[in-house]
Amino acid sequence: MNTSLRVYETDTPQHKLYSDMHRNQTLDYVLDKKEKYSSLNNKKMYMKDALAALDTFVDPSDPDLDEENSIHAYQTAERIRRIHPLNKELQLVGLIHDLGKVLFTFGEPDWAVVGDTYVVGCDFPKSIVYYETMKENSDFDKYDKNGIYSEKCGLENLNISFGHDEYLYQVLKQNEGKHKISKPNLDVIRYHSFYPWHTSGEYKQFMRDGDQVILKNVNYFNNFDLYSKEDSPDISDEIKEYYSQILDEYFPEILQW
Ligand code: FE
Ligand code: FE
Repeated sequence: MNTSLRVYETDTPQHKLYSDMHRNQTLDYVLDKKEKYSSLNNKKMYMKDALAALDTFVDPSDPDLDEENSIHAYQTAERIRRIHPLNKELQLVGLIHDLGKVLFTFGEPDWAVVGDTYVVGCDFPKSIVYYETMKENSDFDKYDKNGIYSEKCGLENLNISFGHDEYLYQVLKQNEGKHKISKPNLDVIRYHSFYPWHTSGEYKQFMRDGDQVILKNVNYFNNFDLYSKEDSPDISDEIKEYYSQILDEYFPEILQW
């Protein structure tokens, strides 16, 4: 793995994004956003339409990426296909994992869509990227280590800063029966940006039976969710056609977003 990936400096677009996020994403803010998107009444579209919507979108949170997000989608899927040629579902998870970024088209600011996530309602661990800017959060110093949660409460009971992970998870969960993505993969999507937890080892006290498996799956998936400059940005028509077919197979119906 390229160790120069994910290097964060100040005075960059990433610093600005995280400082906005850390100032604004408080417990109250997250509860409001979750409530707002708990009923999906924004639009109806196929998963394919969401992929097309990201054709023109470049993620401002990633210091390594200067390509449209749909290229990242195909590249992630292709990296999975090389190792798991028969696992179409996992390939598709690679393809769709970031499609919650369509939140942009609903007018959400970048700091409510992308970037590493953290738990609100408890102490902010120092491993959070650009931790210094957490001090501008009105919840800073308000909660102790466990805050409003109890030990072993389970990952699913944590309120995590809002963004494309939680949103796409809600879309898939609430459109249950209209697609063929299994529960373990929904969790991979839900927690893929939760770096303080999956990479820095924070929040372990909240994990309960079953959460260890989620951690293992998320970390496995994240090996493929890289922005490798070695991968060609030219996605061939054959590749697009291959994924178009599995999209039809796994997402045959129009979805509520
Ligand atoms: Fe992502
Ligand atoms: Fe990604």
